[in-house]
Amino acid sequence: MNKISRRTIVKNLFLGGTAVLYSPRTLFSFGRPAKDKLGVALVGLGYYSTDLLAPALQQTANCYLAGIVTGTPSKAETWKAKYNIPDKNIYNYQNFDQIANNKDIDVVYVVLPPSMHREYVVRAANAGKHVWCEKPMAMTVQECQEMIDACNKNKRSLAIGYRLHHEPNTQEYRRIVNQHLLGKVKKLNCAAGYRDNRTNHWKQTKSLGGGVMYDMGVYAIQGSRCGTGMEPVSIISAKTSTTRPEIYKNGLDETTVAKLEYPGGVIADIKTSFGENINFLDIDCEKGSINMAPYSGYNGLKGKSPLGEIYHPYDVRWQQAKQMDDDALSIKQGKPMLVPGEEGLRDIRIVEAIYKSASTGSAVKL
Ligand code: NAD
Repeated sequence: MNKISRRTIVKNLFLGGTAVLYSPRTLFSFGRPAKDKLGVALVGLGYYSTDLLAPALQQTANCYLAGIVTGTPSKAETWKAKYNIPDKNIYNYQNFDQIANNKDIDVVYVVLPPSMHREYVVRAANAGKHVWCEKPMAMTVQECQEMIDACNKNKRSLAIGYRLHHEPNTQEYRRIVNQHLLGKVKKLNCAAGYRDNRTNHWKQTKSLGGGVMYDMGVYAIQGSRCGTGMEPVSIISAKTSTTRPEIYKNGLDETTVAKLEYPGGVIADIKTSFGENINFLDIDCEKGSINMAPYSGYNGLKGKSPLGEIYHPYDVRWQQAKQMDDDALSIKQGKPMLVPGEEGLRDIRIVEAIYKSASTGSAVKL
C-alpha cells in the first residue's frame, strides 16, 4: 500500500470515529512481520496518554500501542476494549517488572508525574526495554544521570518526550539560527505558560514534581537553548512569584522569570507561568528577528522572519505520532535518539540553577 492511500484510509477512519476498532497492526502490517512495528507500553493513563499518545499511536507506522501499565483496574478495562489490548499486555505498578518476559513490548513510555520518572525508567531499562520518558526528565540532575546509566548498562535507548524537536516549524527556526542565516543571535525572549485552575493536582504538589519551572519552564529553557543554538553559562537572576498563595505555597512556584547568559554576552529572558496563557519565542539576530507564536503548542505553530513565513501545516499526523515514529525507527535502525537522556538532563541542570538563583538572590554559574 503506498503512503498516500494509507494516509487517506487512516484519515477516513478518524473522520468516521471508528479508528479504535482497528488495531494499527491490522491496518499497516499486511504481509509484513509484526516486528516491523515496535510494541509500546504506556505507563500512566492520565491526560497525556489518553488524549494525545494513544490516539497518536493509531497513526504511527513504526510502532503501535501494545500494552498499558495502570494502577486503576477500571481504566485497564476501558483501554482493553477501546484499543484491543490483550490481558497479557496489561500490567499494574506491582507486577510491572514482569514486563521483562513480554516479547510484545519493545518500548516502555513513562507518562507519570515527574517524581516517578526515575523509578519507572530504571525499572523499564532493567527489564530490558527501550525507554521513552516524558518531560521534565526528573527532579534532579542526579536522578537524570541514574536513568541514563540504567539505560546504558542495559544497552537500551532512552528518549525524552520533547516532541518539538521532531516538529517542522521548530526545525526551521533552528535551521535559520544554526546556519546563521540572519547572522548571530543578539538576544532572546521566550514565554511558556497557561492558566491552570487546579488546586491539588501533582502540578500543584511539590513532592510529586509540581512547580511551573519543571512543567512549563523546561519549554522556555528549550526555547532559549534552541533559539540561541548555545548552552547558557550562567543564570544572572531569577524570581519566583504567585498571585494565588493559597495554592502555590512552601516553595512551589506559579510564575518564574529568569535571565540567562549565553556565550558572547547574549541574554535570554524567559518567563513561565501557571497563571496566564503565554506562548512565544522572539530571537533577535543581527539581520532581523525570528518571531514564533505559538512556538510550543500541539499544532498550529508558526512564525516569521525577514526570510519569510515559517509555517508547515500537517496533513494527518500529530506531533506525537511523528515523535514516536522517529524514535521507533531510530531504535529499529540502531541509531541514536534525536532527544537522548542527556538533553533532558541539561534542562534539569538549568532548572536547578534557576531555583537556586531565585532562592539565594544571586547569580549562579553553570
Ligand atoms: P495526569 O495527572 O493527567 O496523569 C498522570 C497519571 O499518573 C495518571 O494516570 C495517574 O493515575 C498516574 N499516577 C500514578 N501514580 C500517581 C501518583 N502517586 N500521583 C498522581 N498520579 C499518579 O498527568 P499528565 O498531564 O498526563 O502528565 C503526565 C506526564 O506527561 C508528565 O511528565 C507531564 O509533564 C507529561 N506531559 C507532557 C506533555 C507534552 O506535550 N510532552 C503534555 C502533557 C503532559
